[in-house]
Amino acid sequence: MKVLKFGGTSVGSVENMRSVMEIITDGEQKIVVLSAMSGTTNSLVEISELLYQKKQKEAEEAILKLEAKYEKVIDTLYVSELSKQKGIKRVKESFDVLKGYLESDFDKVGENTILAQGEMMSTGMFHYLLEENEYKTALIPALDFMKIDADLQPDEDYITEAIKPYLEESKDADYIITQGFICRNADNDVDNLQRGGSDYTATLIGANIGASEIEIWTDIDGFHNNDPRFVENTSKIDQLSFAEAAELAYFGAKILHPSTVLPCRKKNVPVRLKNTMNPSDCGTLIASTPMGKGIKAIAAKDNISAVKIRSGRMLLAYGFLRRVFEVFENFRTPIDMITTSEVAVSLTIDKTDYLDEILVDLESWGQVTVDSDQTIICIVGHDLIEEKGFEQKIFGALSNIPIRMISYGGSNHNISILINRDDKKEALNALSSTLFN
Ligand code: ADP
Ligand code: ASP
Ligand code: MG
Repeated sequence: MKVLKFGGTSVGSVENMRSVMEIITDGEQKIVVLSAMSGTTNSLVEISELLYQKKQKEAEEAILKLEAKYEKVIDTLYVSELSKQKGIKRVKESFDVLKGYLESDFDKVGENTILAQGEMMSTGMFHYLLEENEYKTALIPALDFMKIDADLQPDEDYITEAIKPYLEESKDADYIITQGFICRNADNDVDNLQRGGSDYTATLIGANIGASEIEIWTDIDGFHNNDPRFVENTSKIDQLSFAEAAELAYFGAKILHPSTVLPCRKKNVPVRLKNTMNPSDCGTLIASTPMGKGIKAIAAKDNISAVKIRSGRMLLAYGFLRRVFEVFENFRTPIDMITTSEVAVSLTIDKTDYLDEILVDLESWGQVTVDSDQTIICIVGHDLIEEKGFEQKIFGALSNIPIRMISYGGSNHNISILINRDDKKEALNALSSTLFN
């Protein structure tokens, strides 16, 4: 069985939902993971912010505006009055949840419950669309089988077991629909897999039910060799290895949630990226075998803070780095890049929730400085470590851009460079012209 995931744009209009219906209905049984309609999760984030700020009037206006948008979609999505009624009922259920928070206290659980409504609505609406068109369809609740643990990591053993009865129940359905992004946490409250998390839902389900392939359908024809939002003339890559795709996703390629590839890499399940607007294109295949040599693609990750610790105690000492890393570990803050000199270590983080506390603790080990608003540029290829001469091209391309850190040799596949965020567009374009054009 395959798992197919369709992103926000793919379900973002009546026309696109119909295209998705056409793509999936080939008679083969499959699981279909859907995102919220594009723009919805952003609106839900805004509504939550207004509720936190106790701006009930503005929150109510935003809720009503979003509700009107959904009512309009329902109006044209279905032909029969019965399907329309079902669609309206589903959407109303979600908007009642939202409106309930206008009159009650608001906290993290409330926020996550609000954020979940986008996927709850899109999947319900799509399920009724399939029903109206007389397809055999089942809607299964992600909140009953997707789970993260106390460290916010997916509990794959739980997911594997918990989804089984739902699949068993749906064995006569051809198209089994479920929500991307949303899950429950260790306290059993509604939570999510972070923004863009529907990709991750699809690979977590696919890898753990032994799917033959996972398809991630989006609004572009596959993985491009640079970020098309900042660089013109990027081109599609036909095949990437799990290692290459994992580095690119982790280092900011928006087309994939940072953790998407991990479950598939573990279980060796191929992932194909496809374009809902151009289904006949073969897209990009992500599999265990790399194709081609040399540099494949470039990605960029923003909102990076670089922390430097200088200390005479580092000189000829052992245990210094362990103490530094322990500080980050104590505050559950992952480190991305590291470079060291004789008397200083620089490292980067993108989670800054505990930065102030981290700095206080680090100050007992040396002088600490922080640069925020940095960007990591990550250049990825197969076995780059074996190639000659590409470093010269990279640094030649970046000769006008100040470089804050360089990390190379950590894996065989990438070189990461830290620059000011303001230089990102120039850096991506300069690298593209030198390396690909
Ligand atoms: P979806 O809503 O389907 O999940 P996303 O917006 O999350 O879609 O991801 C697709 C978008 O990712 C593309 O429209 C493109 O602008 C952006 N993107 C960034 N980097 C890349 C890349 N290297 N290759 C392809 N698309 C990329
Ligand atoms: N709807 C969620 C988001 O916008 C998840 C996703 O689209 O993957 O982040
Ligand atoms: Mg996405």
